[in-house]
Amino acid sequence: MPKYSLSPEHFSQALLDWYDQHGRQDLPWQHPRTPYQVWISEIMLQQTQVNTVIPYFQRFMEHFPDVKTLALAKQDEVLHLWTGLGYYARARNLHKCAQQLLENYAGDFPNTVEEVATLPGIGPSTAGAILAQSRGIRAPILDGNVKRVLARLHAVPGWPGKKPVESRLWELAEHYTPDHRLADYTQAIMDLGATLCRRSTPDCTACPVKTGCQAHANGNPQDYPGKKPKKTLPVRTTVMLILRDREGQVWLEQRPQQGIWGGLWCFPQTCAMEQVHHALQTRAFDARGDTQQLPPFRHTFSHYHLDIEPLEVAVDTAGPCDNNGRWVNPQNPGKLGLAAPVKKLLASLSAPRQARML
Ligand code: SF4
Repeated sequence: MPKYSLSPEHFSQALLDWYDQHGRQDLPWQHPRTPYQVWISEIMLQQTQVNTVIPYFQRFMEHFPDVKTLALAKQDEVLHLWTGLGYYARARNLHKCAQQLLENYAGDFPNTVEEVATLPGIGPSTAGAILAQSRGIRAPILDGNVKRVLARLHAVPGWPGKKPVESRLWELAEHYTPDHRLADYTQAIMDLGATLCRRSTPDCTACPVKTGCQAHANGNPQDYPGKKPKKTLPVRTTVMLILRDREGQVWLEQRPQQGIWGGLWCFPQTCAMEQVHHALQTRAFDARGDTQQLPPFRHTFSHYHLDIEPLEVAVDTAGPCDNNGRWVNPQNPGKLGLAAPVKKLLASLSAPRQARML
């Protein structure tokens, strides 16, 4: 080990002492710290901050207090409660995973990281977090916060998306994980990353493991972990058709399960304004002549930008009525999973016409 390393015992003890005084011990998923509660929180916390997650978590628990209620719920209900959290594949996997737990494990989680990590949407780090936090099983974790702490501690160069870098960080995670107080240690190392070892403003003076931190000794914690190589995202465009009937309702369609916004409800889309007429025809809607372009806006996915041009079209309601589409009140669309831009547009439609800003 390099000059600035701490022994695993010293590291975990320093971290646990700090956690006992400064760690987060009142998060809703810690009371009680069941596998189900930890699992839901871990999935919600991927790409999302704790403060944002808390109300979503509480609402989710009110509706689906255990694996069975989640497994037996309709996918629309699950997606509805996920609306706003983004990355909807997580919600679809959560639902599938609950069904597999009910079918294959009597509604409970298995006891090994290997088995838990075969379930939909659960990787080795999430599996470790579930088992360590709810059952005190010794399992290292390596989420974004932990990657940052360990990369700095040992000044590990390179982007953790690269296999050799990730493997090195797993080795370190394994090295430092103690064999006692696993639930607290797991929360403690995540808390250290989230509250002190922050991405751009680490608070090294308050850090309980600073004497073992190579990046701190070098004076360059912000250089770790290495950044993802930049690439320019392509731009695509779409016209979102806000079809309104005479009562002011709007037409939404459910997206196919595969692809972007899988299973969510969206406005019909076309690639270009020239295709609007065709889109109406295929749905057997008659335009009433009144159309209005709303301000365009951009929605960014991890792999491309989508420039959205919303077009409001007044139609007669003699259109299709099948399982893939329905009329909804824009102020109260009901319990549907909505894509984020659709939610934004519905909120804008509820505002007075002159105040519509996206
Ligand atoms: S000393 Fe600073 S950089 Fe090192 S682990 Fe602590 S907060 Fe992070």
